[in-house]
Amino acid sequence: MKKIFSYFLSIAIIFTCITLTSCSKSADSSIDNLTETSALRIHYIDVGQGDAILIQVNHKNFLIDSGPSDSQSKILGYLKNLHINKFDYILATHPHEDHIGNMTAIIKKYDITTFLAPKVTTNTSTFKNMLLALKNKNMHINAIKAGSKVINLGENITVEVLSPNNSSYEELNNYSPMIKLTYGSRSFLFVGDAQKEVEQEVLSKNYDVKADVLKVGHHGSSTSTSNEFLKKVNPSIAVISVGANNSYKHPNKSVIDRLKESSIKIYRTDNDGNIIIDCDGKNIKVTTK
Ligand SMILES: [Zn+2]
Repeated sequence: MKKIFSYFLSIAIIFTCITLTSCSKSADSSIDNLTETSALRIHYIDVGQGDAILIQVNHKNFLIDSGPSDSQSKILGYLKNLHINKFDYILATHPHEDHIGNMTAIIKKYDITTFLAPKVTTNTSTFKNMLLALKNKNMHINAIKAGSKVINLGENITVEVLSPNNSSYEELNNYSPMIKLTYGSRSFLFVGDAQKEVEQEVLSKNYDVKADVLKVGHHGSSTSTSNEFLKKVNPSIAVISVGANNSYKHPNKSVIDRLKESSIKIYRTDNDGNIIIDCDGKNIKVTTK
């Protein structure tokens, strides 16, 4: 009888663990202490209508985008609270203000080892000021494209750059590099504002896009997250970085419906604030604040 009971108990535990977030609640002791080498923490920072994502692992800091300029005090305050004094990598996914709006301030304030961006320019003052801030620090942009091996986040972490695969796109959004980070048995996909054309392009190159956590493309716009792409990524968790009551009406209802149909747990910065994901290589824990 005891044997049968323990059999059912273990089945119940396995079943609970299939839902990643609930599993982590009971198994997160190893990831609470993130000063330990190799524990991964990803901050999807609430910058309103824009993107700013900080990845911390192996005592390295990797910032993807900086949010729009109207969120400057928010992002600088957030980074200050984390006592960040240096970035190993910063990636400006593409030259739109909602992604590079605070790059100039961040470049001026912080030591940066490697600054990454796709090979594309634009004429806005935000972009020009970013270039000037880099020049004033004698820094240059490391051009990033599919297959780039430039990002090294240390032991046990794999970083694959899946796009851009072309040198020119009509839409600036499509220059956003698609990046897959794998830690242990878990993976995370970052897609910036890449649209369906790029999703298709990446699938046609046969990249393995499967990931447990998807940063939903282009703030949940209908331009991105095609059904085919979503099926291939097959995430358990989706994170949407989006401003409350934004004029673009992001996220689009069709994208939300698609995520819900696949029973994907959705986190949104407009509703949840900052979204912090901890991972020990096996369990995933989501905290919102
Ligand atoms: Zn954007």
